[in-house]
Amino acid sequence: MRWHFTDRVYDRTEDILVTYPRVHLRKGRERRVLEGHPWVFSGAVAHYIEVEPGSVVDVCDADGLFVGRGYYNAASSIPVRMLTRDEDATIDKRFILERLASAVTLRKQWIDGRTTNAYRLVHGESDGLPGLIVDRYADFLVVQFHTLGIERFREAVVASLEELLTPTGIYERSDVGTRRADGLEDFPTGLISGEEPPELIEITENRCGFLVDVRRGQKTGFFLDQRENRLDVQSFARDRDVLNCFSYSGGFSVYAGRGKAARVTSVDVSATAIELARQNLELNRLSPDVHPCLTENVFDYLKACRSDGVTYDLVVVDPPAFVKTQAALTQATRAYISLNRRAIEILSPGGILVTASCSTQIDYEGFFTILKHAATAAGRTVQVIRSHTQAIDHPTPVSFPEGRYLKCFFAVVQ
Ligand code: SAH
Repeated sequence: MRWHFTDRVYDRTEDILVTYPRVHLRKGRERRVLEGHPWVFSGAVAHYIEVEPGSVVDVCDADGLFVGRGYYNAASSIPVRMLTRDEDATIDKRFILERLASAVTLRKQWIDGRTTNAYRLVHGESDGLPGLIVDRYADFLVVQFHTLGIERFREAVVASLEELLTPTGIYERSDVGTRRADGLEDFPTGLISGEEPPELIEITENRCGFLVDVRRGQKTGFFLDQRENRLDVQSFARDRDVLNCFSYSGGFSVYAGRGKAARVTSVDVSATAIELARQNLELNRLSPDVHPCLTENVFDYLKACRSDGVTYDLVVVDPPAFVKTQAALTQATRAYISLNRRAIEILSPGGILVTASCSTQIDYEGFFTILKHAATAAGRTVQVIRSHTQAIDHPTPVSFPEGRYLKCFFAVVQ
């Protein structure tokens, strides 16, 4: 018998309302969830229950009152990730389809489909689907299942995406460390539906063309979260000599070139990334002969510029996350200060520093403090003129500080 979706799920033979196992919180620990935080940390759980990992459970306060519904994994330091606070909601295929449909509708409102065909369709917790990432690259989708709980909805996710978007293919990139923290031991990648994507997918972002390697590229292939910051770099680039540190496939470089920069130098330690940056410049009719692409360590490159007296008018610094755990914070803070100091030192007076950090552990104020120390060490005056975060398709619930990861400041250096 086929499953029929009704408003609530009833046992098909006995017509009894399906209930979910209950997880009780310690006294007072429901507040954060009621405020909309999507995670229940282990310290908040009064006692663990015996259910199949990944099962849907009801979260109750110490008095037994319903707080919300989520999926459960006792092996994780986040034993429950919340799916809804609606007691009448049934977590089934239709629930997944509706969540995905509303995420898609928002992206259609937010992103101009005439100029951009690559963006994040589903940003996990922010779209009410914890652990799920779905990125669109032209006619293909790339998905990541970060947790055991969302893994159990794999079929519903794939079927819903096919129904809502009819993509040419859906490719999986669940090669993410977070799965290990969730007790998963496999990191699946590969085609899960439709046709194999080409070696490089050509996408359009604000009318710039980019080639994206969804199989081997970083994250799902492209740093979609910097889209708006790249556009801002374009508006500051005219006639400037630009240095793009940690360029990856040349995202900021292409925009700077399109903004009529005199020259854009891209530096990344990965030869594959630099080759792609070269191709992306060419795709946008920017010659790599004018705009050098260098496979080098940024720290060494900045040091060499300083000792050779080389300066730039705009420097982009967008490193990988230096800190992934709280314990590594002090060391990472030092690394950010030193990196930004080096970038500030080689800026000509009136030059622009575009500096980013995607470490969640460093917050907005913390990043200001890092820049203060970097400016002091460099002996320069630095004024922030723009402070941005991740692009619109990566929203963050106000009650979810862990979701606010990207900081991108534009500063004038005198
Ligand atoms: N700004 C890019 C994304 C940067 S991702 C964009 O908008 O698309 C971080 C990049 O830093 C990766 O490509 C990685 O290869 C590179 N990287 C990491 N350590 C490096 C180092 N020490 N020197 C140069 N590049 C480095």
